Amino acid sequence: SKRIVIKVGTSTIMYPNGAINLKQMEKLSFVLSDLKNQGKEVILVSSGAIGVGLSRMNLTERPVTIPEQQAIAAIGQTELMRLYSKFFFHYGHQIGQVLLTKDVTDFPVSRKNTVNTFEQLLYKHIVPIVNENDTVSVEELDHLTRFGDNDTLSAIVLELTEADLLIMLSDIDGFYDKNPMEYQDAERFDIIHDITDDILDLAQDSTTKFGTGGMITKLNAAQIVLEARKRMVLANGSDISILFDVLKGKDVGTLFS
Ligand code: ADP
Repeated sequence: SKRIVIKVGTSTIMYPNGAINLKQMEKLSFVLSDLKNQGKEVILVSSGAIGVGLSRMNLTERPVTIPEQQAIAAIGQTELMRLYSKFFFHYGHQIGQVLLTKDVTDFPVSRKNTVNTFEQLLYKHIVPIVNENDTVSVEELDHLTRFGDNDTLSAIVLELTEADLLIMLSDIDGFYDKNPMEYQDAERFDIIHDITDDILDLAQDSTTKFGTGGMITKLNAAQIVLEARKRMVLANGSDISILFDVLKGKDVGTLFS
């Protein structure tokens, strides 16, 4: 696969104490830059705007109201992109910010404009970094404007960019038959072909502080990916070099294919 979408969760780029994990952000920028140098086209979907915003404002908890959260996201998004820009530049690459709303799936004109933007960025060898536009996507109007989570968003981005592989990095080694954070005897699936109801029953919410969707939204994403006859790998982002292993086809994480 030449064109790849990589999605990182907040847990991959933030420490559990709420501080920004600069080492991880730098390593991510390094590995993606190296993949670019190998001739691959990479698109990054990055969570973390609220987490980074909280850290910038010296807050430990999410504010209560939606407008306050949107403001924090606006602050955090800028800082997130500043850091990516700095690290990617260091490794010789340029980034471009793409903020999306559900409009891209609902309105053909919005969709077309988005596709054109991605195509032009990739044509110019720029790394698109994607996030949901929290300023216009309000949580209360969930079904109207919001994807609600970057897992689903990354599956949509895979489709829009006609990439064929989505690599989702999380704080867990893959998809298990029960939540491994709670059960020691949980076993990882190497490969999953179908998101059946039985599979959906095994997925639970996130147990981490900053995690949003847990496994449920990751399976939703996998379903979109499988329906488009593409592939998704869910792997642990605690060591970013795992991206090289995934691309070598090594048995790390869970492959949805
Ligand atoms: P991210 O921030 O990387 O998107 P999340 O915290 O939202 O990650 O989701 C990953 C979490 O999902 C895991 O840490 C785990 O606690 C939880 N989880 C629930 N059910 C499962 C399962 N069946 N297999 C693996 N992880 C699961």
